[in-house]
Amino acid sequence: MFIYADNASTTKMSPSAIEAMLPYFDRSYGNPSSLHNLGQEAMEDLVKARERIAQCLGCHSKEVYFTSGGSESDNQAIISAARIGSKCNKRHIISAVFEHHAVLNTLNKLKLDGFEIELLPVGETGRISPQQVEDAIRQDTCLVTIMYANNEIGSIQPVGDIGRICREKSIFFHTDAVQAAGHIPIDFNKQYIDMLSLSAHKFHGPKGIGALIVKQGIPLVNLIEGGAQERGRRGGTENVPAIMGMAAALEESCKHMKENSWKISEKRDRLIEALAQIPHSVLNGDRFERLPGNINFCFEGIEGESLLLLLDAKGICASSGSACASGALDPSHVLLALGRQQEIAQGALRLSLSADNTIEEIEYMVKTIPQVINDLRSRSSRWEDKMSGKVPFYL
Ligand SMILES: *Cc1c(COP(=O)(O)O)cnc(C)c1O
Repeated sequence: MFIYADNASTTKMSPSAIEAMLPYFDRSYGNPSSLHNLGQEAMEDLVKARERIAQCLGCHSKEVYFTSGGSESDNQAIISAARIGSKCNKRHIISAVFEHHAVLNTLNKLKLDGFEIELLPVGETGRISPQQVEDAIRQDTCLVTIMYANNEIGSIQPVGDIGRICREKSIFFHTDAVQAAGHIPIDFNKQYIDMLSLSAHKFHGPKGIGALIVKQGIPLVNLIEGGAQERGRRGGTENVPAIMGMAAALEESCKHMKENSWKISEKRDRLIEALAQIPHSVLNGDRFERLPGNINFCFEGIEGESLLLLLDAKGICASSGSACASGALDPSHVLLALGRQQEIAQGALRLSLSADNTIEEIEYMVKTIPQVINDLRSRSSRWEDKMSGKVPFYL
């Protein structure tokens, strides 16, 4: 059995996205900036790709900027809003403790330039309330950046309501929608979003390509200087094959969003129900305002890394949180933000499903995961101490 349940880290490319890329390697390989026919053909397809992507997101094609992925988009959005803010002496930025490190580390860098960063706490289920944002807004706030859906615990944020508040107060609103794009509905305009980040490899497109959607009239700061590509806001020859793959993957994901979301969340719920039966466990994230494919539990007395290795040996690819955080033994900042104790946060398991996961795979996980946890606990002296009452249980 081989089961891929780590789709929040990255996804397998869809066959149609691969197919959409192929002609641009060896037939339509022109540089879109070249004036000859081969180049202009590539340019035309690039223009169309921008329009197709805009269609999926409820924005204008002029608002789509291609980047190398979610991290770059987050960096450019935040740095641009900060630059505009500092010009009118507004150096207060509102974000949240559970953001991706592409956001958090960019904000940390801005601190050195005199920006004041306010990270809102998240509730027990990992959600920000619009009221929290409204209360935090000051005269000198230049940006609110709140992710659309959390990559570890899958909690979906009230983006439209936050956007409306920011729009009323004329404050830029950026959302890292990397986990949302292609998975749940997004409407850039109707949700009052000013800037939105997405990344193709999270919705069955290629790695190393993404987009930053920017409301017309907002001047971006270049992170990469060069030619006039992306309306002068990002130098470098466009990654035409990857852009074509991204457009195809996003169109396909959005076309099948309803049925896939229904199918996947049914499997998610089966797993959540089964894993909740394991004693001394807790579900992380909101039970209902949750990405269709996300399952995240803490199991007391379990060391996350050992659990992952044993599951891997049984053919299950899972994660203990974000891929960027694993490798480091620090417990996830997201789980700590939910109020999980250090020891509990160490015993996390994230399963993230896609439409490719079969019912047989789900049932195999339902059977295997409790066995592996039992096995690990029975070999742990820490667990023995808890069972004998020497050490209290948290959960
Ligand atoms: C994956 C991810 C990113 C980073 O995207 P890359 O394209 O890998 O740079 C940023 N934010 C969130 C929420 C993510 O899940």
